[in-house]
Amino acid sequence: MAKKQFKAESKRLLEMMINSIYTQREIFLRELISNASDAIDKIYYKALTDDKLVFNKDSYYIKIAADKDSRTLTITDTGIGMSKEELENNLGIIAKSGSFAFKKDNEAKDGHNIIGQFGVGFYSAFMVADVVTVISKALGSDEAYKWESQGADGYTIVPSDNDEVGTTVILKIKNNTEDENYDEFLEEYRLRSIIKKYSDFIRYPIKMDVMSQRPKEGSDDNELEDYTEEQTVNSMVPIWRKNKSELTAEDYERFYFDKHYGFDKPLKHIHISADGAVVYRAILFIPEKTPFDYYTKEYEKGLELYSNGVLIMNKCADLLPDYFSFVKGMVDSEDLSLNISREMLQHDRQLQLIAKNIKSKIKSQLQNMMKDEREKYEQFFKSFGRQLKFGVYNDYGIDKDVLQDLLMFYSSKEKKPVTLDEYVSRMPEDQKYIYYASGESIDRIEKLPQTEVVADAGYEILYFTDDVDEFAVKMMMQYKDKEFKSVSSGDLGIESNSSEEEADAASEHKDLFEAMKGILSDKVKTVKASKRLKSHPVCLSNEGELTIEMEKVLRSMPN
Ligand code: ADP
Ligand code: MG
Repeated sequence: MAKKQFKAESKRLLEMMINSIYTQREIFLRELISNASDAIDKIYYKALTDDKLVFNKDSYYIKIAADKDSRTLTITDTGIGMSKEELENNLGIIAKSGSFAFKKDNEAKDGHNIIGQFGVGFYSAFMVADVVTVISKALGSDEAYKWESQGADGYTIVPSDNDEVGTTVILKIKNNTEDENYDEFLEEYRLRSIIKKYSDFIRYPIKMDVMSQRPKEGSDDNELEDYTEEQTVNSMVPIWRKNKSELTAEDYERFYFDKHYGFDKPLKHIHISADGAVVYRAILFIPEKTPFDYYTKEYEKGLELYSNGVLIMNKCADLLPDYFSFVKGMVDSEDLSLNISREMLQHDRQLQLIAKNIKSKIKSQLQNMMKDEREKYEQFFKSFGRQLKFGVYNDYGIDKDVLQDLLMFYSSKEKKPVTLDEYVSRMPEDQKYIYYASGESIDRIEKLPQTEVVADAGYEILYFTDDVDEFAVKMMMQYKDKEFKSVSSGDLGIESNSSEEEADAASEHKDLFEAMKGILSDKVKTVKASKRLKSHPVCLSNEGELTIEMEKVLRSMPN
């Protein structure tokens, strides 16, 4: 039986699409520039196989011009252009992508950069324009055509003039309404910033006429005159496509600063160019200082995500585990499967692979830093160690190996932070446990009566001053087969003949202890003699798994 074709109410579809796909109006410019770049790329690819065609990079560019008086924004490219038929097919049929077809036809050629794929980006122009006019002359053709549309009502195509091969898209920018202001899309600085944000790494120059002032010629009293100058707005070659050997520490620092990743200087940069199972490039930074909102709910983790040099997402959270949420930077990949708005990804395997890869790179860089640049690592740990410890507490099962070796705690012996590995490697043979003492500050812990016995036995004690510390080690239970032990726990595993003496003291001062218990009544469970005390008369001690410090934390937590 012959199948019938679906019919669609194209007017409605177009409206629905324009208003529902994109969350931000400003991306229309990204879409039109991407199309212009694709059009130039096509000439470039044609020139690869066609000897008659020479690709002289200097003669290819994209130009953006705004005219406030006529409320027009013009995007011109010197790309491959469109014939009458192509205008009809590519701009007249929604979801038809000439670029996608081109990519398919040319798949054999290596490393394409063509961005277009879904055949809808062009229509985003109607988010900001009442009328869109496209004047185009195809490569190898003598005639130019003008396509024009007011959106939902359809379009017209008539012959036109255009001396050069290429395409000019003219947007008649909407008038402001009570709720919406469109003037920004005619402002030079605004346009520049949109270009910088989304299209900075388009490989062809994006030019704009910029108004500047200069000293007036022939005038001696500093008189200035206005003049316009054509400037290239985009950087074209992204720093991450460059060779590491060409780049200096300052280059990375400037990138960090330009990108507003932070106000501090980064402690370390990680430049990755992966060509294995998944192809991507990334520049990641470990900041020096804790951002002011870091340990709050407001802080959003994530890396910038680029697909082929075009910004897709500002903060892609899926690329970082929570315990590395302090990492800043970007990832660029050609292999991502984007959804139609190109604002989101289909949660795909590629992304997971990249995330996994990034995680292990960050881990090994941190480990190197710990080994080779200890001071830097200590600075890092001061800023973000707490987050790693939260990671142990929350994700320990998943990433045990990543995290346990990155932790540091203040040592009673070294008087500075040490790693668990360092602690364990120093343990005397008779020492059974990794000892720790919790308290508000190092000073306070030093004065804890409970630390004396352990210290006297010659053992090192780790000082836990972060509320999360004890919870984290409770989750770990042990490190390299050594269990963690609080100095205030009942059985310290230290040999002594204490039990007899304790019994003696208990019977000798029975009345005193009972009187004390009576006075403290429900505040303590019992009052006992203890051999644990040396120079201190008394200490508080816990029974069971929760130490006094942990109880404090739990009690201070909102329910
Ligand atoms: P996509 O870029 O995803 O293919 P668009 O809706 O942005 O979808 O564009 C549709 C098609 O129109 C493109 O695939 C391309 O064939 C054609 N096109 C758009 N803009 C231009 C341009 N500036 N020069 C040449 N062709 C263009
Ligand atoms: Mg497009």
